[in-house]
Amino acid sequence: MNALPIFPGTVSVSGQPATLGVMGGGQLGRMFVHAAQRLGYFTAVLDPDPQSPAGLVSQHHIQTGYDDVHGLAQLADVCAAITTEFENVPASALKTLAAHCPVAPGAGAVAIAQDRILEKSHFTASAGLAGVTCAPYAVIETPEQLQAVPADLLPGILKTARMGYDGKGQLRVRNAAELTAAWTDLKQVPCVLEKLLPLKAECSVIVARGWNGDIVSFPPQHNLHVDGILAVTEVFQGNMPQVHALRAQYATKLIATHIDYVGVLCVEFFVIDDGSEHGALVVNEMAPRPHNSGHYTLDACDVSQFDLQVHAMAGLPLPAPRQHSPAIMLNLLGDVWLDAQGRARTPDWQAVLALPGAHLHLYGKLEARPGRKMGHLTITGADVAGVKASARRAAQILGLPGFEGTS
Ligand code: ATP
Ligand code: MG
Repeated sequence: MNALPIFPGTVSVSGQPATLGVMGGGQLGRMFVHAAQRLGYFTAVLDPDPQSPAGLVSQHHIQTGYDDVHGLAQLADVCAAITTEFENVPASALKTLAAHCPVAPGAGAVAIAQDRILEKSHFTASAGLAGVTCAPYAVIETPEQLQAVPADLLPGILKTARMGYDGKGQLRVRNAAELTAAWTDLKQVPCVLEKLLPLKAECSVIVARGWNGDIVSFPPQHNLHVDGILAVTEVFQGNMPQVHALRAQYATKLIATHIDYVGVLCVEFFVIDDGSEHGALVVNEMAPRPHNSGHYTLDACDVSQFDLQVHAMAGLPLPAPRQHSPAIMLNLLGDVWLDAQGRARTPDWQAVLALPGAHLHLYGKLEARPGRKMGHLTITGADVAGVKASARRAAQILGLPGFEGTS
């Protein structure tokens, strides 16, 4: 087992710099790899896709399935520590790896994040201490539980307990008949039915927690979703009521600390309309990894969520991040590369890159498909008004639907 901290640039027995590994080769893995390499580490990515965004830029790319014993052995062999970039990595694989080197986050924490039923119990026990509750819900694993659903949970959203992301594995239901049909559509797998809440806003908080329990937080992100996928993140003073900002940060720290979490954790919240002036905060779900809503940290903070992922897993200090610029992040989905007839087109980068404070990040994906996350654009600037003006202009140029700014 490697001793922590694992310093960057340290030459290992193989004669190479210390290598940090990541399960999964998507865009989050790619940005992790960039952060690790900047510090002088080598990196290893495990992802079966030969064209995976992270695999393309990593020193090592192990192209096997996530539970392939040979692939995992190869990864463990080369790495001084290992993290993950997607929550549906088999928890058993993380457990196997943890016998060889530090793995952060651990299998236990990831298993909770993978299962909405476990996740909600965990939130009640942790965020509940900050007065933050989950949406009212019922667990549906049997026909008896389906029959027993209280009427006041309808209309609601039926969500599969496992494997959901970007709004997939979810069906909105208005009444008991629709609920029964929806559970059949979802193949009667274990689900939760959540009451459909009147959302005023959505936000998220990202924290990083170290092996020694140190924890630091980014400011709360104000998020706008379109069709169940994150479209816009706004982060600046006044992006949400102060009372929610502080409580959401506190609740996120409780959620992480309660399970002795190590690594970067993102927790999503709703602000619901309960008739009060600012509404009430409700905790939705957590991601055991950096998060799309934290991409702005690359350009608007002195340390990014990916830097802190590297620091946390390697046992390096966790400096409190400081945001040095207001920021708006616009997600760039595959639709931006397609015209109204579905034909391929090249977005007008010339015009986008001429905007003040525009930071374009493309993930190296070779095929644009509707809804596929291809990149993001972060706008920074000296003041909020200027950032909003640039973001609006970028949205117009790229034809991003429905963007008027969330606050
Ligand atoms: P992702 O992993 O991409 O964040 P997901 O597929 O895991 O998404 P959720 O975050 O649970 O799913 O839900 C997606 C979106 O659906 C939320 O961001 C919110 O806009 C809406 N939504 C989810 N649950 C509720 C609810 N109980 N009431 C009202 N809206 C909801
Ligand atoms: Mg979500």
